Amino acid sequence: MRFPKPVPPERQPPGLAKEIVLTALPEDERVWVPLHPNVWFRPLLLNTVEGYWTSLLRVRAAGVVSCHRHPAPVHGYVIKGSWRYLEHDWVARAGDYVFEPPGETHTLVVDEDVDEMITWFLVNGAMIYVDEEGKQVGFTDVYERIDLCRKHYISSGLGADYVNQFIR
Ligand code: FE
Repeated sequence: MRFPKPVPPERQPPGLAKEIVLTALPEDERVWVPLHPNVWFRPLLLNTVEGYWTSLLRVRAAGVVSCHRHPAPVHGYVIKGSWRYLEHDWVARAGDYVFEPPGETHTLVVDEDVDEMITWFLVNGAMIYVDEEGKQVGFTDVYERIDLCRKHYISSGLGADYVNQFIR
């Protein structure tokens, strides 16, 4: 097969953001940012212009991962294992796509028979952490995620600038 010539760089807009291509499941364990015991976050894109982030969530223990409300929509794709929300009767399994509508509050749990779950999420805006009554106890957004990553990459030896490759 013959390919045409690539589109020349001068046909691209000035100031075009740099693309991101990476191995989603890294060989270097330090890339995973710990959130809680047995729960990690692997940044892929931290978008400060549109206020969203995409990342992998990895859980290696059964239990409640988080109870939270989404002010904006979330998309997910389960890569490994399974998980569910206490508020719903479905289980998200490897290969499943999940849409979480804006406004929903739910409690993410991983069941005993799951050794490890890994899920890709695109979270828009923020996640508001709530208690069992649904009252706000904290929140996270793309800036908090960047801060979390930077602190972990400093302490793990990858360096403060390591997070920059994910930021747009
Ligand atoms: Fe959620």
